[in-house]
Amino acid sequence: MKSIGVGLIGSGFMGKAHALAWNAVRPVFGDVPAIRLAHLGDANDALARAKADEFGFAKASGDWRQVVADPEVDVVSITTPNKFHLEMAAAALAAGKDVWCEKPMAPNLADAEKMLAAARQSGKVAVLGYNYVQNPVIRHISKLIGEGAIGAVNHVRIEMDEDFMADPEAPFQQRHEKANGWGAIDDFAVHPLSLILTLFGPLERVMCDMAKPYSTRKSPEGEREVEVFDIATILMRLKNGASGFIAVSRTAWGRKGRIAIQIFGAKGSILFDQERLNEFQLYLTSDGPTEAGFRTVLSAPHHKPYDRFIPAPGHSLGFNDLKTIECRQLIGRMLGEEALSIDFEKGILIERAVDAMARSFQEGRWVDLG
Ligand code: NAD
Repeated sequence: MKSIGVGLIGSGFMGKAHALAWNAVRPVFGDVPAIRLAHLGDANDALARAKADEFGFAKASGDWRQVVADPEVDVVSITTPNKFHLEMAAAALAAGKDVWCEKPMAPNLADAEKMLAAARQSGKVAVLGYNYVQNPVIRHISKLIGEGAIGAVNHVRIEMDEDFMADPEAPFQQRHEKANGWGAIDDFAVHPLSLILTLFGPLERVMCDMAKPYSTRKSPEGEREVEVFDIATILMRLKNGASGFIAVSRTAWGRKGRIAIQIFGAKGSILFDQERLNEFQLYLTSDGPTEAGFRTVLSAPHHKPYDRFIPAPGHSLGFNDLKTIECRQLIGRMLGEEALSIDFEKGILIERAVDAMARSFQEGRWVDLG
């Protein structure tokens, strides 16, 4: 493969993150084919043209089908609201393109299963935007757990909180529409689920409660009903025997990008928070009772692939760098390499867990994942 032609659909928060990653992946990693930013699609021609010029794409279209049909496009980044993912991903895969689709797969399990079927039928690469698992610190935590550094893990707690919907006066947006899913569990809890899948493997059962602190929001058409939930609290049991919980909120004043993980094992503990994504805390009983205490470890070139960005320790990666690592993993899949990605095969496990959470909430009981 001499070069890779990229199509991008959507140019908002995640569209820009994908564009930055496609622009950075070759300079950062150096070992991938040349990247051609071929075609950007958005909701109308003017927006698509303006964003194509900003991000460096050659062609622009107000009709996303033009992007999918473009023979110069090898891989399509899908960064539109959740309700479009199935139609866009299925069309791209059917056209013989590889796909990098933002999380979650779809607003409901039936549509997510259709996306998986489309990926299987096409034989193309189909991965999802679960950037947090790409953090070199998370990869190192995974290695420590795999090596038994903290012994058998018995309790896992993950809290994900932001405050972008904490203001009751904040206006209605697409994230409040039922057409885009459940809110708290498929917008937020999917990220903790991606981390759990990566660090420990699948869930066995869940018990979920959801809440909606503000039932209406202002919109240009007047007050609109909030159709989804902003808060969820989930008890869980993992297949490896550990118990724990996931708690998420989009209305938690003061929390900006928190994904706080606590992992307790027989021989130690590990703490991590995405708001301080370049460090983690490690407690090892092997330090002995007079010295044992949490130590803070800063990310460094030894935590690969940090070294591809910066040769000096403690100089810090950021959110968009995780997206660049995710992009390198996607290209690895396209080149037939082993790569750490949440693909549609793994993503469906997350979607089934979300569906189990929804059923648990509706029926007021524990739900087994089988
Ligand atoms: P956004 O509103 O900022 O951007 C959505 C983009 O899609 C806009 O450019 C919009 O014009 C475009 N769009 C809407 N309808 C379209 C259509 N019919 N055809 C073409 N383009 C269309 O939204 P966002 O925050 O970027 O979220 C998009 C996706 O990214 C969602 O699935 C969300 O769950 C996911 N997301 C992932 C992360 C992460 O950390 N991985 C973070 C935020 C959002």
